[in-house]
Amino acid sequence: MVQISNISGELIKWYEQNKRELPWRDTSDPYKIWISEIILQQTRVNQGLNYFIRFIERFPNIKSLADANEDEVLKYWQGLGYYTRARNLHKAAILIVKDYDGIFPTEYNKIVKLTGIGEYTAAAISSFAFNEPFAVLDGNVYRVISRLFGIETPIDTNFGKKEFARLAQSILSISKPAHHNQAIMEFGALQCIPSSPDCINCPLKFTCRAFELNKVSLLPVKSIKTKVSNRFFNYLFIKFQDSTYLQKRVAKDIWQNLYEFPLIESNHLFDLDELQGDENFKTLFKNIDEVKILKTINPMKHILSHRVIYAQFVIIKVSNENEILKQFIKTSMTEIDKYAISRLMELFIESELE
Ligand code: SF4
Repeated sequence: MVQISNISGELIKWYEQNKRELPWRDTSDPYKIWISEIILQQTRVNQGLNYFIRFIERFPNIKSLADANEDEVLKYWQGLGYYTRARNLHKAAILIVKDYDGIFPTEYNKIVKLTGIGEYTAAAISSFAFNEPFAVLDGNVYRVISRLFGIETPIDTNFGKKEFARLAQSILSISKPAHHNQAIMEFGALQCIPSSPDCINCPLKFTCRAFELNKVSLLPVKSIKTKVSNRFFNYLFIKFQDSTYLQKRVAKDIWQNLYEFPLIESNHLFDLDELQGDENFKTLFKNIDEVKILKTINPMKHILSHRVIYAQFVIIKVSNENEILKQFIKTSMTEIDKYAISRLMELFIESELE
């Protein structure tokens, strides 16, 4: 049986034999570590890797990120989702240039105050870049600890968070915090996976309470079921000569600051009669001589973390422009590529350009 005091040693030994080679592992540059941690917050390593490489190529340091405009940063994030992450990266980079002369702060208390950096990311940056003894606690670590110690406290409660933070800190190797944190995260990602982990070949099986009590599949426990709401988007892909129209989503909502076609949101997907009878539709096309609906693309279902978007794209040709259309951003199909758009818009455009 592995002693509690040597869990860290076992994790590090396992890590040395099993770790994946990833570009942010061989650096102590806090900027690169920060970007990788933010990308990986809601994205799997395989998907995040290419985004990380492209992002670092374009924005190799804090100053280049701070100097960029937000539209471009969002463009480099396009397809990753959770766009608040990109907006916060940009805001924090500007703040680091302003308050810290462009040099990433080295103290945990300063790092944790940067926009978009919570306790977990601050612990990761502090330990990986500065070898400070702060234990990380991401989804993988919650799972490993809940199983190793057989903890049934829900991980999404304040009480649970404190209990797990204390346990994570208690097994941290003070002499090798960076190594330990990398190891436990990788162990959760590859060995102690959510369903059917290979417990028989696990080096910690004789220490693991969940394995001993046959509770592996029951841990970790979560209390809150995420409430999912449905939304219905009727997008209008309006063709005038060789152009179409876009708008920026400025409201505090999903996809904030991304671009999209004119949109009529409703409480169900409209059929064509309902669409043409809608007041927003009538206003949009007021004083246009001919408004011809060419076709409607089959409804698409797009799943986000807390919402399911049901969307349809209605292709409409107009004979002239009115004052309202002139207020939108006019662009050609081929130039839409310059704008940061949601994955849903991207899917439609890809199918249209085929
Ligand atoms: S024995 Fe199974 S549940 Fe326990 S730490 Fe190892 S892989 Fe995870």
